Amino acid sequence: MYDFTQEQLDFRKNIREFVDKEVLPQAQRIDISSKFPYQIIKRCGELGFLDHLFSSETNYSNMEVTRGVIFLEEISRGLGSLGLILCPHFQGTTLLSTAASESLRTELIKQVYTGEKLFAYAISEASGGTNALDIATIAVRDGAEWVINGTKCWITNAGIADGYFISARTASSSQRRSISFFYIDSSDIGVIHRERNKMIGCNNSVMGTVQFKDCRIPANRLIGIENEGYTLMKDTLNQGRLGISAVAAGIAQRALELAITFSGSRKYYGRKLSSNQGIGFPIAEMYAHISALKNTLYHTASLCENKKPYSVEVSALKILANEVCSQACQQAQEIHGAYGLSKDSEIERCLRDSYMMTTAEGTTQACKIAVASALSNQPLEQYF
Ligand SMILES: Cc1cc2nc3c(=O)[nH]c(=O)nc-3n(C[C@H](O)[C@H](O)[C@H](O)COP(=O)(O)OP(=O)(O)OC[C@H]3O[C@@H](n4cnc5c(N)ncnc54)[C@H](O)[C@@H]3O)c2cc1C
Repeated sequence: MYDFTQEQLDFRKNIREFVDKEVLPQAQRIDISSKFPYQIIKRCGELGFLDHLFSSETNYSNMEVTRGVIFLEEISRGLGSLGLILCPHFQGTTLLSTAASESLRTELIKQVYTGEKLFAYAISEASGGTNALDIATIAVRDGAEWVINGTKCWITNAGIADGYFISARTASSSQRRSISFFYIDSSDIGVIHRERNKMIGCNNSVMGTVQFKDCRIPANRLIGIENEGYTLMKDTLNQGRLGISAVAAGIAQRALELAITFSGSRKYYGRKLSSNQGIGFPIAEMYAHISALKNTLYHTASLCENKKPYSVEVSALKILANEVCSQACQQAQEIHGAYGLSKDSEIERCLRDSYMMTTAEGTTQACKIAVASALSNQPLEQYF
């Protein structure tokens, strides 16, 4: 397996213990309740798990990409919705730490690390999330303020988040890539929470539509440079793909654990179910695929951490993560028989949560477009 440093291994052990003690025993109950897991998120803040980022561009101590990935993977092994909720939070935290004005950063950062403030990252619109540049949300400068109008869809943490990092077309330019990022506080006048989407999985997360209607925000809420938000968007999307791949790896590992436990404890005529090759082979396949996913995940995290280009690698990783996680959950469900389709079983939840990962932060097709386009323009040796 991937060669972690002792510090990273200790960090993983800490989170694993926390998940085993405080998340897994109540995961099924809170999934059924569909309640937002405020308590667990606050606890993650108390334990210092939230003070790391996905950006390699920051000078803040204690912030390291690999730690962030380890955290998301391990927490999602306990409950997929926790990873889904925290992924856009980390994207927002990265934007805050690396591109926001000093005044905004100072105002928000402490509460972000303690879990008292939660962010959403909002770029998708009704016109289609795959083409994230084709947006109608518009920001117009008016003296010392910006006025934002637009609607964002399928937003994780919509209505729950304390603040939104949003992309908007900046009226001063007609260029397609001329977008900018802004921070909008959920208490700002003009933030309207529209419908909450009912999704197939990740019951404890909230997804919905947010409208910004004549929303006036001070000039220091511009994130980065006006009209140059495209680079920020690419960076945060890459971080999102890395993050969701970690969430998928955590769900896949839990599916494997459940398959091993169930098939090891069920007996037919005195023999364990797992002693049949028809059960042992899919378990071996799951292990092989999940190992490959994890190694690719941490290799990609190290590229990001060491400031190396990783756009192609992270899109390829997301393709792998979508496939491995979905397949592992399906195989584990089959091993559980009818129980695996029952609302009482944990694997049923893993299976539903795995579907959510296939579209978040770019569909498999969107990732394939990114990889295929790079491979058709650059020599393969650049990647191997
Ligand atoms: C769990 C989850 C969490 C999410 N969280 C957020 C969030 O926090 N913030 C946010 O901004 N968005 C979020 N989204 C939205 C997500 O980013 C979009 O759903 C995604 O980008 C796809 O956009 P779409 O659903 O509009 O599909 P579309 O872009 O309309 O695509 C529809 C289908 O066509 C395919 N397709 C599109 N273009 C091509 C092409 N050129 N070639 C081949 N196939 C193509 C797509 O792969 C897809 O299968 C989330 C979505 C999910 C499911």
